[in-house]
Amino acid sequence: MSTENLNPFEIAQFYFDQAADRLMLDDGMRAVLRTPKRCLTVSIPVRMDDGTYRVFIGHRVAHNMARGPAKGGIRFHPGVNLDEVKALASWMTWKCACLDLPFGGGKGGVTVDPHELSQGELERLTRRYTFEILPLIGPEQDIPAPDVYTDSQTMAWIMDTYSMTKGATTLGVVTGKPVALGGSKGRDRATARGVQFTLREACRDRGMSLKGATVAIQGYGNAGSHLADFLHAEGAVIVAASDSKGGVHNPKGLDPAAMAAHKYADESLHTFPGGKPISNSALLELPVDILVPAALENQITAANAGKVQAKIIAEAANGPTTPAADDLLFAAGRTVIPDILANAGGVTVSYFEWVQDFNTFFWDEAEVDRRLEEYMRRAYAAVAEKAKQHNCSLRGGAYVLAVGRVNQATVVRGIFP
Ligand code: NAD
Repeated sequence: MSTENLNPFEIAQFYFDQAADRLMLDDGMRAVLRTPKRCLTVSIPVRMDDGTYRVFIGHRVAHNMARGPAKGGIRFHPGVNLDEVKALASWMTWKCACLDLPFGGGKGGVTVDPHELSQGELERLTRRYTFEILPLIGPEQDIPAPDVYTDSQTMAWIMDTYSMTKGATTLGVVTGKPVALGGSKGRDRATARGVQFTLREACRDRGMSLKGATVAIQGYGNAGSHLADFLHAEGAVIVAASDSKGGVHNPKGLDPAAMAAHKYADESLHTFPGGKPISNSALLELPVDILVPAALENQITAANAGKVQAKIIAEAANGPTTPAADDLLFAAGRTVIPDILANAGGVTVSYFEWVQDFNTFFWDEAEVDRRLEEYMRRAYAAVAEKAKQHNCSLRGGAYVLAVGRVNQATVVRGIFP
């Protein structure tokens, strides 16, 4: 049995420590940067439709605010726990710094399977959770956004709850809102767009073309399904895709639009008639050019990294690869585009949304995409440069870049008082 440590927060700290070593940070500064600034755990009583009450547990963590307000999504999932939220919050700190956005890192989550709740129950849960974390959030303090099993509707409820208690509509308290309510055009597809832009760069570096490249995608939600559309439109061949119930495989290619329609109607992909069913673990080991984990943490581990055949692994999900697996992939010459770079398109367009909300002046989608591409390309180049300097993987380079920036901000601000 594997003895690999799968605690996501300890994994996040491991990557931080590696960067701190490369940057030769002293012990005091390491302690400041690796410790979350604040963690709030709340209980959320909800009146269910049948008149009974259930209590759910939620968290909101701000990991670091040296470069600006905390920024990060809210996850509704049965597996949510405080260490996972702390890990996700710290990855947001490094992600925002990697992209040079004026934000720190935060994250929230509720331990719940939202598929078991009615729409009314979900709304009451969201509003009560918002009320409980209200003292911490705000457009200048900590700004939530969607993550696994939350969406623009969730953000609209959060924005409304916050605004009701403040007595004024406060658009900038969350991002990923509906466009009708101060959201940014292109935000719903931004995470996938960002992955697409970094994939173009990585393909160029490896002398590969996206056109004709074979792709397997694990996770067919916001990140995975939009990415399938974009890569298909560029001529890549989507040979496998999956969701929580399993996946579908066809070496000749799958039609992303038909898969999305089937998933919408049937709530699953493995029953899609365009291919044969495949398990989530087998999908990771397919002979493809590009593998995209777009679901949850710890999917590529020491146990299966040796069986991954993809030349490029683009981490649309946060934390899909363990440190031991990362070393094996690097040694095998694979290119891993790390989460804090690959999936940063979402938070980058969240930043654009926040800016547009403050100005109450909104951009068209072409402008959003143009600016996003600029940010992603610039970040990819800076990460690749650091990786070259330190003779390490892109993940190593991304962490050196990000930790260096947060360290610099902390040093010039000074430690209060
Ligand atoms: P989502 O809720 O829209 O979709 C999640 C998808 O993953 C669903 O298709 C679900 O069925 C599938 N899934 C769940 N458990 C699975 C499992 N065990 N195996 C395979 N598939 C499984 O969520 P999302 O917003 O697309 O987020 C996916 C990943 O991307 C997460 O790691 C999230 O943190 C990351 N991410 C999302 C954003 C964003 O803007 N939404 C930004 C950055 C990173």
